[in-house]
Amino acid sequence: MADNKSYTCDHHEATRRVVLESGMALGATAALAQNAQAAVGPKTLPAKGFAVKAKDSGFAPFAFKRRDVGPKDVLIDVLYCGVCHSDIHTAWNEWPGTHYPCVPGHEVLGRVLKTGKEVTRFKAGDIAAVGCLVDSCGHCPSCAEDLEQFCENGATLTYDSDDKILGGHTYGGYSNLITVTEHFVVKIPPKMDLARTAPLLCAGITTYSPMRHWKVTKGMKVGIAGIGGLGHVGVKIAAALGAEVSLITTTPGKLADAAKLGAKDGLLVTDAAAVKANAGRYDFILSTIPQHHDVMPYVSMLRRDGVYVMVGALDGTPMQVWGPPLIVQRKSVAGSVIGGLKETQEMVDFCAANGIAADIELIAGGNLDAAYKRVKAKDVRYRFVIDLAKTA
Ligand SMILES: [Zn+2]
Ligand SMILES: [Zn+2]
Repeated sequence: MADNKSYTCDHHEATRRVVLESGMALGATAALAQNAQAAVGPKTLPAKGFAVKAKDSGFAPFAFKRRDVGPKDVLIDVLYCGVCHSDIHTAWNEWPGTHYPCVPGHEVLGRVLKTGKEVTRFKAGDIAAVGCLVDSCGHCPSCAEDLEQFCENGATLTYDSDDKILGGHTYGGYSNLITVTEHFVVKIPPKMDLARTAPLLCAGITTYSPMRHWKVTKGMKVGIAGIGGLGHVGVKIAAALGAEVSLITTTPGKLADAAKLGAKDGLLVTDAAAVKANAGRYDFILSTIPQHHDVMPYVSMLRRDGVYVMVGALDGTPMQVWGPPLIVQRKSVAGSVIGGLKETQEMVDFCAANGIAADIELIAGGNLDAAYKRVKAKDVRYRFVIDLAKTA
């Protein structure tokens, strides 16, 4: 996802939450006991994971606490967690302001261990997943429209966000356990390859949501720019929506993967002749490029009314857009970030129905430092996934 700093906001504090969750029908003695517990916070469970303690410390095993389930919570035994480029931006403090120790991970998939008494959609043993969000206000206009990613009171991110229940900051999925309120947990349909499904929770929804918003459909010509963790899933989703898809990359070696991923063809954006030959071709270009880049070669490949949508986790450097090429063909340059919970479930169900999963390399938690370096070197086809059942 693109921005992990704009969501932080105190909209309900820990004590109030505990008191609310304690229920209104308690007798005086029970209420007193509950108040005593509220003073010390919710019950907790020991958890372990992998954390960076400072921006250049590298990963090490880390013991911490998860909250025990409240009435609306689901406790998940994490089996797999994808490694997203946002994890690296955060762990290495590339988006300044990271809180340490930092346990990244927002492509979390596992087995339900325990549920609170008000939980209706999950039971122990179910396969469930968690993406980039673990809470939001639930009542602002965006939340009311199932767009929790735009919560106007500040959604809680899965990691490095204020933890409004336990205090401190949230810890992500590079861990053996996670406790999440039911609304933010996604059901995984049967028969999906679990390790390959985990990356859909960020890479899948980040690419699916803009394609649905801008109505990518059968026969449209779609370019996917940046063929990494997000882009390779984006190619598969666009193809399953019926679009004619092109890879747009800077890595010659990735062109050979076009057909395998479901694309019609591919081109190198560094090849000026290829860019010129494809001028005006695409209705929609989804850019997953994670850093500052020249947008105008991509804009030149849009047809009239075409849209260039950025979803990559960009750095802080402004990029230049030149007006005339947009004006004369009514083109747009836009952005999008993950999706709401309803759409995330829809995306997972769509991927299940269309046999879509990420291409992955499974690693142990002890290999995270080497994996991060390889992501930075664009040396992964196409997503690292941590096997936590084996390593946490
Ligand atoms: Zn992500
Ligand atoms: Zn909200």
